[in-house]
Amino acid sequence: MRQKLLQSWQKISHIGTNDEMSYLDIMRLKILNQLTVSIIFIILLFIIKTLFEGEEDIYVLFIILVFSSAILPFHYFKMYQPARMYWAIYFPLLLTAATMLYGRGVGANTAFFIFITTSMFLFDNFRNQVLANLFIIVLFLGSMYYTNFYESPYADITDDGDIILMFIITAVGVSTIILTFIQEIRKYIKELENKNNSLSTAYEEIERFSYISSHNLKTPVRTIRSFTDLIERDIKRGKTEHISEYLEYIKQGSEQMQYLINDILEYSKISQDKHIELESVDLNKAMSFIASQAQIGATKPIELQISDLPIIESNRTLINAVFQNLIENAAKYNDKPSVEISVSYKLASKMHVFSFADNGIGIDKVYHDKIFGMFERLHSDPNIVGTGIGLAMSKRIVERLGGSISLISEVGKGSTFFVELPV
Ligand code: ADP
Repeated sequence: MRQKLLQSWQKISHIGTNDEMSYLDIMRLKILNQLTVSIIFIILLFIIKTLFEGEEDIYVLFIILVFSSAILPFHYFKMYQPARMYWAIYFPLLLTAATMLYGRGVGANTAFFIFITTSMFLFDNFRNQVLANLFIIVLFLGSMYYTNFYESPYADITDDGDIILMFIITAVGVSTIILTFIQEIRKYIKELENKNNSLSTAYEEIERFSYISSHNLKTPVRTIRSFTDLIERDIKRGKTEHISEYLEYIKQGSEQMQYLINDILEYSKISQDKHIELESVDLNKAMSFIASQAQIGATKPIELQISDLPIIESNRTLINAVFQNLIENAAKYNDKPSVEISVSYKLASKMHVFSFADNGIGIDKVYHDKIFGMFERLHSDPNIVGTGIGLAMSKRIVERLGGSISLISEVGKGSTFFVELPV
């Protein structure tokens, strides 16, 4: 019950807010919505009081109730400026009318403070703030003047209860404004702190990333440079028998550079703090495409066993990249005459768990964490193409999707990688 009430309060507070709004505008909207709901509640209290006392002016209160609720539809239809004007004009006028009709005994004057306070943060420029306050002061003085020189028609039906009620209303109103203000500012500071922390982590990562990227790019450049020097030397000496071999090394070096550049670009794309679009992804379809791709590029037979996979809410491109990388690795790091890969799925404690088991060369336990680092490769076999980015990227993707990646493996006995994604 309490939870439901809180949720409704939150929902009403957020009427008219959207993600593109500035923090200050959201705060203004929330405060106005909350005050409007409080005023509606107070008018309802007056209606109940009037009902009990059997007085006849109840229909007036209903009209006031309708007019006082107008801020909410204004916000709902994104009419923000009219909502603020309405707030700053309608309610002070209402208070003035109440004082004129019921006399000072109704205690409406204290409630002017709510509008003095709100006009300070509702309007951006100083001129509007001053105008709003002048308007309130004029109304206040006007109502004083009126009650001094004229008889209020319903003065006799007010009592001390009205003054107390008005005092409570003002106190609650001003406290609501200040409390919401403080709460929102606290939230804003916390968010800023978090952003600041993630910015410094991102900055450190960029530094590390550019350091290792340039370091890794230097290796193929060095290879290309050395072999072009050798070719130049041989040509000068009139020797040509090694040139095609040197050219092969240059080709390999430039290919390696191309892979590196592509992978680095891919990695930095997913590293950027972009919003990930979620969609419904049929993993059976995705997997059969990845499997057919793996067969095309294979130099030896690949036996792929894929269990029935689910349709999940995820990002097709990202999840494809992870699964493709795991299948490619399972086929690449394999010394058996026939590659065996088995992909299976289970649902465990609100997580989709996918496993990729292979009969490959396996990975020593000491490297199980290391292989997820950027540019980490355990094999120097020149026949196995790679950049050491695949697993680092997979880890980054899976973590950005709210999941995790791990493995169990033993040298010579194959490896099983586990990808866990939240349901
Ligand atoms: P790459 O394949 O480009 O070298 P990865 O980041 O995908 O880079 O893999 C990092 C390293 O982890 C690989 O170089 C390899 O040594 C090891 N590795 C990855 N997958 C497997 C596997 N299924 N079996 C054995 N070793 C693997």
